Amino acid sequence: MTSQTASKIPFHMEMIFTYGEPREIWPGVRRIVAPNAGPLTSKGTNTYIVGSGRVALIDPGPDNEQHLQAILKALKGETLTHIFLTHTHKDHSSLIPDLKAKTGATVYAHAAITENRGSRRKSDKPLDNGFVDLSFKPDEELQDGDIIKGNNWALKAIHTPGHAPDHLSFAHLNEPVLFTGDHIMAWNTSVIIPPEGRMSDYLASLKKVLGQGFERLLPGHGGQARSPDRLIKAYLMHRKWRETAILDHIQAGKTSIDELLPLMYPGVEADFLPAASLSILAHAEHLMEQGLISVSKQPVALDVKFSSQV
Ligand SMILES: [Zn+2]
Repeated sequence: MTSQTASKIPFHMEMIFTYGEPREIWPGVRRIVAPNAGPLTSKGTNTYIVGSGRVALIDPGPDNEQHLQAILKALKGETLTHIFLTHTHKDHSSLIPDLKAKTGATVYAHAAITENRGSRRKSDKPLDNGFVDLSFKPDEELQDGDIIKGNNWALKAIHTPGHAPDHLSFAHLNEPVLFTGDHIMAWNTSVIIPPEGRMSDYLASLKKVLGQGFERLLPGHGGQARSPDRLIKAYLMHRKWRETAILDHIQAGKTSIDELLPLMYPGVEADFLPAASLSILAHAEHLMEQGLISVSKQPVALDVKFSSQV
């Protein structure tokens, strides 16, 4: 994001951790960071262990032997009974088969959605869905509102599509804490790429967890968010501001993502242009769904032309 827009969001960049070592970041919640740092994963995927004795784990992480050993070491003397998955992206799910084989835990996740997954760059090109774990199947399927109780913990599944259609957040029912996966992160905005990501779902999912009394958000990447409602409101405002600006430019006669890019992201580094283009695309799809713009062809992809409907 440009510094102009990023300054409106109260990002928390700091994160205290050591790879391979569990850290209690809330009473009864331990976090282990996987060693898969990157531009979309921050320091790596966060794996959470909930409870003590007979415990639950949220998001095993990538297929990485070092991370598997770190989890097994942290669980020494305890029994892992439940594995929860926030969404079927490989950086969260790939370690599940190995962890399940070592522990015998039951895997809980949203029913796998296999259609229309991935990102679409050009309307005549196939979907890129290499980052989606299409082979994944949970032992137990979760629906919005399902509550799973363990030994000394209880988690409620909240369907929060937007980043991914099967995305679940998990509310800790014994603590004012929400595990947000990639729905809400404190260090960066969530990536919304059509058709995997859908802006209208994302905005509705932000509103769904707003004002619910959470004191802490524990995301799938990066550090904790300490003022959840403030951060969520800032994200909603940020997206509204961007969408209004895109609509204004289309009404003024701009017809393509290439034309919108320098106006929406002035001076942005070349590395960020693909992500910026896809972000504009996600907003354009939302504007189209609201009947505010029309597109030259379907599906909505980077090569479509826009025109104003209002
Ligand atoms: Zn992720």
